[in-house]
Amino acid sequence: MRIASIEDTNERGMHTMTTRMTMTEKREVILSGIRPTGRLHYGNYFGAVKNFIDLQGQDNVRYYFIADYHALTTISEREDFYQQTIDMLRTYVACGLDPAASVIYRQSDLPCTAELTLLLGMITNIGFLERGTTYKDKMSKLEETPGGVEGNPLSYGLLGYPVLMAADILIVRANKVPVGDDQRQHLEMAIDIAQRFNSRFGKTLTVPEGISRNALRLPGLDGSAKMGKSENNTLDLLDDPKTVLKKIKSVPTTTDPEPLNIDSNDPDDVIPRMPNSVGALYRLLHLLAPKDVYLDFVGKYRRGEKFYGTLKTTLAEYVSAFNAPIIEKFNDPANSRESVEDFLRENAKKVTPVALDTVEACRAAMGIGHSLYRA
Ligand code: ATP
Ligand code: MG
Repeated sequence: MRIASIEDTNERGMHTMTTRMTMTEKREVILSGIRPTGRLHYGNYFGAVKNFIDLQGQDNVRYYFIADYHALTTISEREDFYQQTIDMLRTYVACGLDPAASVIYRQSDLPCTAELTLLLGMITNIGFLERGTTYKDKMSKLEETPGGVEGNPLSYGLLGYPVLMAADILIVRANKVPVGDDQRQHLEMAIDIAQRFNSRFGKTLTVPEGISRNALRLPGLDGSAKMGKSENNTLDLLDDPKTVLKKIKSVPTTTDPEPLNIDSNDPDDVIPRMPNSVGALYRLLHLLAPKDVYLDFVGKYRRGEKFYGTLKTTLAEYVSAFNAPIIEKFNDPANSRESVEDFLRENAKKVTPVALDTVEACRAAMGIGHSLYRA
């Protein structure tokens, strides 16, 4: 039913726009993307991927894409890039994303996204893009870098990132977009671009809505507030037991726990009162260990016992046990590079009709008319 419904939607997408819009808008069309900038870490898993897996049982259309175009704003190692993209997909599948239950594709396998980006770029003001937080953050970092902004020019791609993101969402007519806090502004920009297009050229694009994802934000192992690929402070789903133990043992822990000053054992109450690095250990313990193990260690913290050594070895065991089946599935021949390429090819075919239909509708609305080549 799930696969059939995805194909159905795409087939309907080939009908007239009015018919398609009424039919697709009845069902939630969910879209989410992830940049292939490294291996999947626990923050990615519990902050995003688990959410995708939980949505699998529901009657909706789910599109997940590996944002390889987006990654080009930061990728410097070209040789590993393709393999990283494939390995990202293999990790998704290994940790439970069913390639038959959702349409999972590579962004660059849908090159009409680039065409829609160009069309949307024609109605997007530069001033609007300059207000984007990613762009502004990068600007202020560059101002502090030797040579300043002039010596380190920003790319057109980085400024236009929100237009590409709008095209990703609008091209598949997604109406529900799960967003974490870090992407909320980009979604608002996509909504704005869609509304601007519709008011100028007539209702052509589906205006998406955000759906909140669980707000979990996993701190980094180094004591910073966020675990992140570019921060180099991650615990990864493919880490072997030796690496897990080494990483967890090197987490900075103060010898004397701060008083909690609260009776609750709820991780959302307790963890913010701990130093970030200790909070990361407790958050992971809460996510992976049975409740009584978590409660036992909260008690130790409260009583100020010397326990960090045991906490670390206990947690390392739970992490390694969680990683073991993922590593096994990652290396399973059924999840090889070739089989991943096969399903990417199949999924690109599934998502292409609805995407082309959107681009053609936008071309027609803007007055260029349909592509004579594709017609
Ligand atoms: P980068 O450092 O390259 O930005 P990242 O580690 O932040 O990488 P992304 O690819 O930007 O990872 O994010 C993928 C998804 O994982 C996003 O939906 C993001 O909200 C979520 N995510 C990333 N880091 C965390 C974290 N520490 N806690 C919870 N969710 C996270
Ligand atoms: Mg990020």
